[in-house]
Amino acid sequence: MDIRAIFFDAAGTLLRVNGSVGETYARLAREHGKAVSVRDLEAGFRRCFATAPPMAFPGAEADQIPRLEKAWWHDVVRQVFAPLGPFPGFEAYFNALYDFFAEPQAWQLYPEARRTLANLHARGYRLGVISNFDARLFDVLDGLDIGHFFDPIVASTRAGAAKPEPAIFQKALAECELQPQEALHIGDSYELDIVGARNAGLTPVLVERSGRQQSTADCRVVRRLDELLTVLESL
Ligand SMILES: [Mg+2]
Repeated sequence: MDIRAIFFDAAGTLLRVNGSVGETYARLAREHGKAVSVRDLEAGFRRCFATAPPMAFPGAEADQIPRLEKAWWHDVVRQVFAPLGPFPGFEAYFNALYDFFAEPQAWQLYPEARRTLANLHARGYRLGVISNFDARLFDVLDGLDIGHFFDPIVASTRAGAAKPEPAIFQKALAECELQPQEALHIGDSYELDIVGARNAGLTPVLVERSGRQQSTADCRVVRRLDELLTVLESL
């Protein structure tokens, strides 16, 4: 069956944080009266983000979701700072941090991303995003001028399921009225994107920009998004 839709993971695949998470956390913390090293924050963020519960709220009422999204991040950031001593300005800091990452300036596209999307769009592929993220994603994609390429944009907090659960992939497929065999999903996380997409029946592609997993992965691997064009010709 021919591939008709291509779904993209967002962070680490289409875009990344401008600078680094640790730098941003540290800069805003300093502005709120707390000096912490970039390295401690970067390490703390990685640890707490990796062990956080799935960013999804199955069964939640729609009007509760914005509060749940922010509370999810509040827990993560609180845990990042927990071992780093008193932080009286934490609540104001957290609000500033949450707002900051809703701004497109907090993010940058990978250099080939927009060009590749335009190319795939021109070839008639339906493009979508499947992301374990909250509703700030919609504004960020628009702000980076790529939101218009995608239909649907599926954020885990609004889908009631997070990758690698098949349900989030099924939701994207349902919105396109396509079968799993008609869709490809590309992402930078083997556990979330590759395992998830494969279990849902989609063709998975790993984007591995360092090239490290090039030879060991049991799926198609690209180093840059524009290599997708070659992958699509080979399917
Ligand atoms: Mg990712």
